[in-house]
Amino acid sequence: MKRRENIERLKTEEYDLCIIGAGASGAGCALEATLNGLKVALIDKGDFASGTSSKSTKLIHGGVRYLERAFKKLDLAQLRQVKHGLEERHILLNNAPHLAHPVGLITPVFSWWAGLYYFLGLWIYELIASRKDNLPTSKWLNKAKTKELLPGISDKVHSSVLYYDGQLDDARYCLAVVQSAVNEGAVVANYLEVTDFQKDELGKITSVAVADRQVGSDTLPFKIRAKQFLNCTGPFSDKLRVLANPSLESRIKPSKGVHLMLPLAYFHSEYAMLIPKTKDGRVIFAIPFKNHLLVGTTDDPYSDLENEPTLKNTEAEFLMGTLQPYLNKKIERGDIQSGFGGLRPLVLSKKSQEKKATKSLLRDHEVEYDPDSNLVSLLGGKWTTYRLMASDTIRFVCQHMNRDYTSKTADYLLVGAVQFGKNLSSEIDPIYLFESTTKKHLIEKYGSLVLEIAGLTKENPNLAQPILTGFPNIKAEVIYAARSEMAVEIRDFLARRIRMEILDWEAVKTVTPIVAELMGKELGWSESDIKAKSASYIALISKFQLQAESGNAQNA
Ligand SMILES: Cc1cc2nc3c(=O)[nH]c(=O)nc-3n(C[C@H](O)[C@H](O)[C@H](O)COP(=O)(O)OP(=O)(O)OC[C@H]3O[C@@H](n4cnc5c(N)ncnc54)[C@H](O)[C@@H]3O)c2cc1C
Repeated sequence: MKRRENIERLKTEEYDLCIIGAGASGAGCALEATLNGLKVALIDKGDFASGTSSKSTKLIHGGVRYLERAFKKLDLAQLRQVKHGLEERHILLNNAPHLAHPVGLITPVFSWWAGLYYFLGLWIYELIASRKDNLPTSKWLNKAKTKELLPGISDKVHSSVLYYDGQLDDARYCLAVVQSAVNEGAVVANYLEVTDFQKDELGKITSVAVADRQVGSDTLPFKIRAKQFLNCTGPFSDKLRVLANPSLESRIKPSKGVHLMLPLAYFHSEYAMLIPKTKDGRVIFAIPFKNHLLVGTTDDPYSDLENEPTLKNTEAEFLMGTLQPYLNKKIERGDIQSGFGGLRPLVLSKKSQEKKATKSLLRDHEVEYDPDSNLVSLLGGKWTTYRLMASDTIRFVCQHMNRDYTSKTADYLLVGAVQFGKNLSSEIDPIYLFESTTKKHLIEKYGSLVLEIAGLTKENPNLAQPILTGFPNIKAEVIYAARSEMAVEIRDFLARRIRMEILDWEAVKTVTPIVAELMGKELGWSESDIKAKSASYIALISKFQLQAESGNAQNA
């Protein structure tokens, strides 16, 4: 994970496969491809998972809503997708148990027949799930039990149905896949944007022109050469497809989804809530995430790809208005601690070029091959199925390149998961004097790599200090992220390495100068750079706050 050295290698060596985009799809493909003996380059125009892959609802699921649609519309494709998700669920949970865990979801109902409906639905959901996972089975809970598990829930509920799915820290899971690919031999770098393709006399791509977004815009792009190129750019897939072959039709219909973060005090619980029906016929989740309450999401067409989607006032009102009837306490506008938007890379089927609303488009994936340019594109999909998507894609790539292929990721333990089951706590205790919450946090976040972070505090005991009161993170994490996780901007650390940006904007504004100072020293920034980077990130957070208070989603 040494960016400068990796860029030198990308400039000078030739690769079997160059993967463009390092979200869940690209990272998954990089790991599967390196495990199959390919020499892989993986690049992203931003940070790892800086696109949709850090902005999901963070559920590992088949999708109860898709199951309902499968039955109501007799749609086999939806059913197949639910099955794929449920088959992958236990794999994602097993492959990185420090970053993913089971979560209990409570579906409140206001009548007994609604309870019966959801109980039967979730029973079918469980039947479809792989027998390999051992999540608890669903239960129909009476009102008293519902209130015991979810004390904040409205007194008006009749009963609820409890079922289980998985939850992951999406940005860190993506990073773990990238790091695992690196351990297996992939060469990766963030902030490298593909701006053009070069082709041979037959029109096949031979190299990509890449601009380094960490150096001045006057620096010329360089080339990465590879036998095969793979487009994993999610919502941006059409841009790359058309750059490679202008005659291709659009296939992606980006759909915006937002979340907001409230204090966990609204729930007082480790259980999540599934609101089974919204005004626009969808579902909304309210899920405990890192001691906060994540509420989302929405589903609206979005075309302004060059601008980051953010939470707007109208969207915040919609989410709060949907959650309110299920809670006793009134949701206060001022309690919104942060929010974020993401873009689903929904794929239109070739046949219909659907005019459907985005909420009814299938979340499945497709591996597309363009024979004119030789570009392979992985389109669509979900976080939950990222491994399956990667497996389908690399199988195709290997066949196309006349190479053998066997999927090797189903029981591959990601970085941090190896030895995670061992008693890490007892290894730390004799050497380091961490408070129990700090220790728990470090183990849950870094898994078996915890000793590397802890080791930094031996070099410099000041690094064992928290970066901000009320948060478990310590200063050593900043140094570790810059040194070993390729964090090169303040936002890489606060948004994706420790997730504070999606938890609490005010906390981020307070802590930014401290993080800038630590990162700056590690990465060799000048004093004026430290100040400028700090000010520009705080200004960005203030802009997000303003949009959440007054922005109108119609103008997005
Ligand atoms: C609101 C919301 C909630 C969701 N919730 C869930 C959920 O709970 N469970 C679930 O399973 N799925 C969920 N999803 C879906 C899931 O998050 C996405 O399917 C998945 O993250 C897409 O990953 P990706 O790698 O294809 O795209 P991305 O993560 O967007 O990655 C594409 C990458 O390509 C890079 N890129 C683009 N252009 C270039 C270029 N020219 N050069 C170099 N790099 C480039 C981008 O910077 C980006 O990092 C949700 C999606 C949304 C929007």
